[in-house]
Amino acid sequence: MDAANQNHEALDAAARVPSAADLETLSRQLNRPVRDVVEIGARCVCGNPLVATTAPRLSSGIPFPTTYYLTHPVITAAVSRLEAGGVMNEMNAELEQDPALAAEYVQAHEHYLAVRDAIGERSGTGAVPEIAGVSAGGMPTRVKCLHVLVGHSLAAGPGVNPLGDRALEAIAEWWTKDTCRCAGAWDTQAPAPSQDRSRHVKTQAVDPAIKKAERAAARAAREAAANEGSADTKEAPGA
Ligand SMILES: [Zn+2]
Repeated sequence: MDAANQNHEALDAAARVPSAADLETLSRQLNRPVRDVVEIGARCVCGNPLVATTAPRLSSGIPFPTTYYLTHPVITAAVSRLEAGGVMNEMNAELEQDPALAAEYVQAHEHYLAVRDAIGERSGTGAVPEIAGVSAGGMPTRVKCLHVLVGHSLAAGPGVNPLGDRALEAIAEWWTKDTCRCAGAWDTQAPAPSQDRSRHVKTQAVDPAIKKAERAAARAAREAAANEGSADTKEAPGA
């Protein structure tokens, strides 16, 4: 990775902007509503999201080091197969024995941090000192989650994360960047997931969407009570 690629991202600014349709697709891919997604990190040739980008600080205030989340079910399943096959042990052994690879991997870590800072600026969260120098997936010295490395490789483009790139080559029989594998990969017919069923959220404070719905219901009830008996004299808003 040369200096010109220090902050390289696969998608340009316009393509990174998540549309409402993108967010719905992400929810369908993950089978839960997505939260705190600020950009799309990578897209299929058809345009569908492959990677969700999360700001370094969640709207709840919690620091969040894992910027890129692989969402495409075909890719996540293929990477899980690699992990189950023991690829991470091989990579860790190689990192210990190959100084050139280890150095490239450190550069990947630096790239990850630099781009995360840029995403923090763009999304308005700014600097997050709690996670300064902390990347994800085991970087800079170990491989602990191939999904993180593949998400980084897809979002950065080739030549930035050597082990993410290698994992992508290894799943070529199931997915390549040149071919759309979206058809049938997630449910496009059922209503999009609207209630978060993921475990990590259940342990947190009440979902903001639920709070908002509760406030709206309470407001409607107050208005209904206030209007009772005065329906004849009620005026249109702004009259
Ligand atoms: Zn596609």
